[in-house]
Amino acid sequence: MTVTVAVLGSTGSIGTQTLDVVRSAPGRYRVESLAAARSVDLIAAQAEEFRPRWVALVDGSRARELAGRLPEGTELVVGSEALADLARRADVTVNAVVGFAGLGVTLAALAAGKRLALANKESLIAAGPVVQPLRDTPGAELIPVDSEHCAIHQCLRAARRGPDGRTMQVSRLVVTASGGPFRGRSAAELGHVTLEEALNHPTWSMGPKITVDSSTLMNKGLEVIEAHELFGVDYDDIDVVVHPQSIVHSMVEYTDGSTIAQISRPDMRLPIGYALAYPDRLDTAFGAMDWTGTTRLDFEPPDRKAFRCLDLAYRAGRTGGGAPAFLSAANEVAVEAFLAGRIGWSAIAEIVEDSLDRYEAVEAVTVEEVLLADAAGRREARASLAAR
Ligand code: MG
Repeated sequence: MTVTVAVLGSTGSIGTQTLDVVRSAPGRYRVESLAAARSVDLIAAQAEEFRPRWVALVDGSRARELAGRLPEGTELVVGSEALADLARRADVTVNAVVGFAGLGVTLAALAAGKRLALANKESLIAAGPVVQPLRDTPGAELIPVDSEHCAIHQCLRAARRGPDGRTMQVSRLVVTASGGPFRGRSAAELGHVTLEEALNHPTWSMGPKITVDSSTLMNKGLEVIEAHELFGVDYDDIDVVVHPQSIVHSMVEYTDGSTIAQISRPDMRLPIGYALAYPDRLDTAFGAMDWTGTTRLDFEPPDRKAFRCLDLAYRAGRTGGGAPAFLSAANEVAVEAFLAGRIGWSAIAEIVEDSLDRYEAVEAVTVEEVLLADAAGRREARASLAAR
């Protein structure tokens, strides 16, 4: 039977690669809906090719421009609530919406008992306590579309499960990090790095915000929080190891000392295809290894003094409640300031730390509370920025 798919955030990097995966498996998936924030040209071309029932545009002011360009049989819907509606209908929703707007999609798909292929990090990092209870909805499934979490998900298939379905005998998760463009540099050397250098990621091609987050290791810290939320493993049992080749995407260590790793060339179509096909697998190999030449796999501990954002994320994760939302928001403000040339690279961690020092504990079990924690993080980071 053909599986219907909602590709929400279809014009971004994950969205376009999702459509690539769909193309690679003719007859297996039908794109039921596409959604973008405002990229009219690209989404019109995608609609022409995939003939979805619905196309959603978040930015209503551009709707008229798109309406005349959609193929017959495709209906245009507008606004972020429309995206949540589409997530309730499809068998699988790929949530590749950028930022907070993606939370509504996550909540809608899970509450409707559908499969959610989650690429929107904010959903779990900022709003983990809001999302968690909905995972118990009958039929609801959350499969991560992040290379590290996809790897852990695969490695955990080797685990024994208790009667409640929880994995047993897992001693720790090992999340790998490429180390970003500044791996090996001392804290002193990092005082002089430029924006251009920060945007030059060695293995993955991504947007500017996440590329900067990779250079500070904040992205890895946020992924540790994501792993904690997804797999229910204590922070003390989640380690980060730097692995510059980005071939081992993460590992799970079991109580008998065995470590199971997932290995492939960096290609996001693999985790996307995994999330679509699970528990089955796609017939198209994305990122398959070539062992005919010499392959080196290096591992080293992260330099936590030079890359302070990593421990700041652990600190916020352990604090729990609204702290991860607060941290993520403060980091966004700091990264924006860095991208605008207002502060140096080292100031990102300083501003986040300074903000976190002023965090006042709040719950984050409702969307409103998460938004308050987010607003507080932004406010404190701006205050910290202004005081410099
Ligand atoms: Mg990742």
